[in-house]
Amino acid sequence: MKTLAQIAAELEGYDPQALRAETVNVFLSELVAPISESEETGIFQALARVLAADIISPISVPPHDNSAMDGYAFDGAQLSSTSALNLKVVGTALAGKAWQGQVQPGQCVKIMTGAVMPKGLDTVVPQELARAAVESGITIPAGLLRAGDNRRKLGEDLLQGQPALQKGALLTPAALGLLASLGIEKIKVWRKLRVAYFSTGDEILSLGQAPREGAVYDSNRFTVTGLLQRLGCDVLDLGVVGDQPALLESAFKQAASQADAVITSGGVSVGEADYTKAMMHQLGDVAFWKIAMRPGRPLAVGRIGKSVLFGLPGNPVAVMVTFLAFVRPALLKMMGSTAAPAPLLKAHSSEVIRKKPGRTEYQRGIVSNAPDGSLQVRTTGNQGSGVLSSMVQANGLIVLHHNQGNVALGDEVDVMMFEGVI
Ligand code: AMP
Ligand code: MG
Repeated sequence: MKTLAQIAAELEGYDPQALRAETVNVFLSELVAPISESEETGIFQALARVLAADIISPISVPPHDNSAMDGYAFDGAQLSSTSALNLKVVGTALAGKAWQGQVQPGQCVKIMTGAVMPKGLDTVVPQELARAAVESGITIPAGLLRAGDNRRKLGEDLLQGQPALQKGALLTPAALGLLASLGIEKIKVWRKLRVAYFSTGDEILSLGQAPREGAVYDSNRFTVTGLLQRLGCDVLDLGVVGDQPALLESAFKQAASQADAVITSGGVSVGEADYTKAMMHQLGDVAFWKIAMRPGRPLAVGRIGKSVLFGLPGNPVAVMVTFLAFVRPALLKMMGSTAAPAPLLKAHSSEVIRKKPGRTEYQRGIVSNAPDGSLQVRTTGNQGSGVLSSMVQANGLIVLHHNQGNVALGDEVDVMMFEGVI
């Protein structure tokens, strides 16, 4: 395991006083490692878990050729582009109840969606396209179908022996359905990541406490633990810890001994007159950074014991933005996920945005479809790092990159959508 100093030494452009946002991500991906303990779970309980082993398909899906439509199955070799085909109906194939007979040329079998294709038949004419000709017969107009139409082939979803899901896959509803379609009930997943959280600051009120001058309610506890729950982490919630060395020491020690990661908010800014930074420094290997970004300049990262520490700024928007930009990708790596990050989308800015080159800015944005169907985005207005209501209004963050300057009306900007994350 590399120390912070070793990671820093290998990193190009490492300046703890003016760190670029991308450099933070590179640093953190070096700092954290995937957990190594796995467990077995039923797929009913597996939403948002991470697979700890490849899944090889034990069967083919579908297990046999079957009909994609309600209609009539026949041998497509009889189709001609110039003349209609007349077929006599000699039986019925139902879903779950195959038709066993032998079909001769000039014959067809009435078939329901999902029913096994009778032997020798490869094409289905949908019911609404087959004209009833004589009693118990149909006519298929010329040029309407090609051989093989409306038939689902054995294994067209997955063939037996093919890789179905890979180790490191985040289990989505679709992935759980796929596992079920393979008849798989139990899977190996990485154990849940345990993440401890507490808020720091003497001015922070817990819910239920009476308001007092200069004090604010602890909103970070709810935004951060909510984000952690969305990720599927086990959250150890330690509430608010006041600015007293003994309290901070026991909170850090409890958190680090019980959790894979410890997240705190507040007390990491420059000139902060509290004990949070001192305690982090005393108990662990911790770096204190100023990041060239807005909101969220200060960040403390490191290790306390075996646990990874993320000391986030206290401002309610800054805490969420730094979580999304840095902590979330790092936690996903720790969870064993190999999923690619969601792509940034491009949207046309429907307003002028002032931006200084030399820092990454994350502005709260409202993304919508323009009348021509393309994406457009506007900001939520006041971008103060304490304006939490802007995070509620926004459905994404406009990411204005380090070297980017002012945004003109109609310029394309990158947006990071909140869907499924916030
Ligand atoms: P700090 O990073 O400690 O300098 O805090 C910056 C600002 O965020 C201050 O205005 C704090 O009152 C506010 N703040 C810090 N922690 C929280 C919290 N847990 N909930 C809401 N606001 C907070
Ligand atoms: Mg403070």
